[in-house]
Amino acid sequence: ADNYIERKMEELEARKAMPKKPVSNRAGHKRRVFVTGGASGIGKAIVKAFSNEGYRVAFCDRDAERGKETSKETGALFFPADVSDKEALESCLQQLFDRWGDVDILINNAGISEFSPLTETTVEEFDRILSINLRPVFVASRYLALHRKQQTFPNPYGRIINLCSTRYLMSEAGTEGYSASKGGIYSLTHALAVSLAEWHITVNSISPGWIATHDYDQLTSQDHLQHPSGRVGRPEDIARMCVFLCQDGNDFINGENIVIDGGMTKKMIYVE
Ligand code: NAD
Repeated sequence: ADNYIERKMEELEARKAMPKKPVSNRAGHKRRVFVTGGASGIGKAIVKAFSNEGYRVAFCDRDAERGKETSKETGALFFPADVSDKEALESCLQQLFDRWGDVDILINNAGISEFSPLTETTVEEFDRILSINLRPVFVASRYLALHRKQQTFPNPYGRIINLCSTRYLMSEAGTEGYSASKGGIYSLTHALAVSLAEWHITVNSISPGWIATHDYDQLTSQDHLQHPSGRVGRPEDIARMCVFLCQDGNDFINGENIVIDGGMTKKMIYVE
């Protein structure tokens, strides 16, 4: 720890002596965002929100058709890539490093929610869920760290946001793979926040409750009233938090998990 503090003190002194460069995302400086699984659902809302705010946005998705549509709609750069393929995911980031110089914000959003009874779930299926939901968070964050480590003048800004779920804490039968992947993301976020502090990157997770990614109008009032807030969530509820976490002043929010669920997990259930 002493060593770490000494290094930080040296870095602070060196930084004071460095010429001031513009670091804000105001006029003339557009922050660079990469979103995984950005073609539809919450990821698409995130791509849209950052595009509307004037960021430079790129995303990947395994669904090439939808990816192209979202790219057309938002102007964001699209890579058809499956996040469970390590080389493909690293190649997206490498292409962005080559094109943009760096990536300021990484949003690990891609994920699948596949549930099946424990005794009908194979070990291979369990592994597959982790390889899509959990491992890519490590792969992409590590690759960003490797890039930052090589910089002569370290980028003084960085954000990683991981899509977790309220199922990191609450579960139900038949969700072993999904719950384990989200519990993994919850803890991985803590470790990454500590490791990546060295490169000025904050790492937080967002745990959505029930977010309707399509057919919002088909939901019943019973669906809505399960939430103390009186409604089911929308993808934009999550996208707004992502934009908030990326604001310059919010760099003291680090290693946190932000639950966005209309109060659902805070509601006591009584059986009469
Ligand atoms: P979605 O299925 O609507 O969208 C997911 C997107 O990711 C799709 O475009 C899909 O093609 C893409 N994707 C899936 N697997 C991929 C892979 N291997 N490689 C690349 N792209 C891939 O899902 P969503 O509801 O928008 O969920 C987004 C994230 O939020 C997920 O991590 C999910 O676990 C989390 N989440 C969602 C909810 C919810 O209620 N919708 C709740 C809690 C957590």
